[in-house]
Amino acid sequence: MKLISALYPSLSEVKHTYPVDEALDIVKQHLERGADIDGMEPLRNVLMLPFDSEVVKRVESGEWLLVRDEAYYFDGGQIDKSVGAKLLEHRVMELMNPSPGAKKSYGCIFKVISFDSREPLVGRPYIAMVSGKIIEGHTDGDGLVQLPTPSDGVPVSIRVSFRTPLQHTGGLFSESTDTVFVTELMSRELDANTWVCRIAVNDRAMTRQTILHTMDVAGFKVRQRSLWEAKSVKNGMVPGWNYSMIALHHAGRGYGCGDFGAMQMKRAQNNHLGRGYDDIGYHFGIDCAGQVFEGRDIRSKGASVDEYNTGVIGIVLLEDLTVTGEVDDWIDGLRSGMEVWKQNTQNTPPALQVEALCALIEALRQVFSIRVLGGHREYPNQKGDDKYCPGNTGMELVAKLRRSTGLSEPSVL
Ligand SMILES: [Zn+2]
Repeated sequence: MKLISALYPSLSEVKHTYPVDEALDIVKQHLERGADIDGMEPLRNVLMLPFDSEVVKRVESGEWLLVRDEAYYFDGGQIDKSVGAKLLEHRVMELMNPSPGAKKSYGCIFKVISFDSREPLVGRPYIAMVSGKIIEGHTDGDGLVQLPTPSDGVPVSIRVSFRTPLQHTGGLFSESTDTVFVTELMSRELDANTWVCRIAVNDRAMTRQTILHTMDVAGFKVRQRSLWEAKSVKNGMVPGWNYSMIALHHAGRGYGCGDFGAMQMKRAQNNHLGRGYDDIGYHFGIDCAGQVFEGRDIRSKGASVDEYNTGVIGIVLLEDLTVTGEVDDWIDGLRSGMEVWKQNTQNTPPALQVEALCALIEALRQVFSIRVLGGHREYPNQKGDDKYCPGNTGMELVAKLRRSTGLSEPSVL
């Protein structure tokens, strides 16, 4: 969670703000224990009297908001709508000060920046609506958009397209989703006092949203972390992007088709946290019923292949896909014993699970330039249990998927 000023919350922050009484309890408890809350230090530093009682007062009055982590990891947002800034840049001043003697001009000026780098986005397509008229264009060399209006007080709305690593812009979304990311303003006289509306386009959040949306349309709604009661990730996750590979895993011994996927995801996360990882290592998990779960946020680098995670998306099938005799241990011994009694203990991934996996691979290929699909064990120098993952049955599936998708094996790297 994070403590923020209530002045310019993002939409996502507003959605994930704790109610005041709950926030008060949490903040008081932390203060009593001397524990830190993310964001508290910078806020406290600007107080005249940085006492605990002053902190409590700000939270009680609603001047400061306590926001859940979900606001940052699972926002679908594109735009920092609320950040208005007076930009005293030369270019902006030029736009606002028409030549002397000219009559007054009206409109809105937007500055489009990248959410991640805060740099201006140049040549980014936008679509705007001014007095009911649609205007399409691109941001200029400084990331600026000027939309003139005949007078002040005219409603102006704008939607800036986003970009996935495959360079798709917009278009992947339905109209209803698009409208969520529209910024609206009233036009005013353009002069030196005009406020420039800054739009921060969050390409990565939108790329993630596109994956979820594509899966939704394909009939495999992705269960987000709150649904499997994921624990918060540790601070300072390493960003990951520009993925070109997929590593397929099986959850391994002790996992089976009879269990609930949500519980299995929780178990895998606990296991990984116990091993000192920052979060569950896989980006996605799929259970035998074809339910897809979001593991580690796709915007963070995964931890699913030993020494080999850059550019790799990890997907786990939530069962054990080894066959008898493959792993020489007591479970295998037990299984061979059972086979004498003609029980089916050879695990094959159910059709629904395979369908969900195919849909997920397709959804990922729509936004990332994926070239490689490999079973975990095919990546170089894997040790211990990793040498068996995703089991012989899992490897048969990988071979089939490579044939149907045309993706390459990791050895081509
Ligand atoms: Zn694995």
